[in-house]
Amino acid sequence: MLQLTAFDAGNGDALLVEVPESGGSWLALIDGGVGRTFQDRVAPYLESRDKGHSPNNPTGLDLVVCTHIDSDHITGLLALVETAQPTGTEAAWWPSTVWHNSFEDIVSHQSTHASRAQSLAAIASVPQGERLRRRLREKGIPLNAPDGQFIRAPRVYRSGSVHIDVLAPDDAAIEKLRSYWRKKGSKVRPLVQEVKPDDSQTNLASVVLHVSQGGHKLLLTGDQVASSIIEGLDAGGFGHLARPHHVDVMQIPHHGSRRNSSLALYKRVTARHYLVSASGKQEKPHPDVADQIAEARRGHSFDVWLTNEAPAFTEALIDRAAAHGSRVTIHHREPSQSTLTIAPG
Ligand SMILES: [Zn+2]
Repeated sequence: MLQLTAFDAGNGDALLVEVPESGGSWLALIDGGVGRTFQDRVAPYLESRDKGHSPNNPTGLDLVVCTHIDSDHITGLLALVETAQPTGTEAAWWPSTVWHNSFEDIVSHQSTHASRAQSLAAIASVPQGERLRRRLREKGIPLNAPDGQFIRAPRVYRSGSVHIDVLAPDDAAIEKLRSYWRKKGSKVRPLVQEVKPDDSQTNLASVVLHVSQGGHKLLLTGDQVASSIIEGLDAGGFGHLARPHHVDVMQIPHHGSRRNSSLALYKRVTARHYLVSASGKQEKPHPDVADQIAEARRGHSFDVWLTNEAPAFTEALIDRAAAHGSRVTIHHREPSQSTLTIAPG
């Protein structure tokens, strides 16, 4: 059965999707978290698994996705790519492909060296994205397989029994990111991850994935905004206003920031389980988001899973669920564990 494991990734994300298949498991890593998330949490977990887990790529990962280049998502992926070795050697996380919408590919062929250098200097996480792209090329890891094109909606990807729909970013979001990187250059203030505005162009270009297999569904939202997630659901034919789409597990976007959630989002897509990958600090997750979910799930039971304690959020969840007539069960990562696993159904 499909399962989602969230690593303790500090204020970032590192998520592993596992699907049992004949002869092993299909594995996808979505983002790599901050700092040493990969070395200290993800790699030991992958090492602890039996070898031969992936039918297509016996010592590796079937898919690695960088939703966007902010450091709380990309840093751990750089560590993965630095240490990954091809089949037959010790490291066990060679990616069959990495999905990454790189600055170089989006911008470079249409801009001058000067504007490229300005943008590189101005936008804090662009160099990390470029390093990822360069290392993939040097190591011969396919970028954006199977077709090498940007990861954008609508796009459907099948691997074994797994079906992935890309719901965001759409062409307009890629175009906005392109013009942001090209035109503003050094005028753009560096993106400081603690104070990201809700109009952060990197967040707005964040990849959103709908993963389905064997009747189970996951919605992985990165740091996208509610309106773009709703647009992606609409464009992909996933339910509509009068009949919300239902998934087993939904990731709360942008670590539970209230700038990225809305009541409309939680009414448009409902879930049995909600995952919050967040540090629990700086109002991520925010109590207003708890209220939105509790209201949208009026009359229903739902579970909320947190990678880190967030007392203001969980108190609000309990209070607002009682007020709205919904029933919530809250789960936390065990402090002694580095992972939190949700196996729906
Ligand atoms: Zn983030």
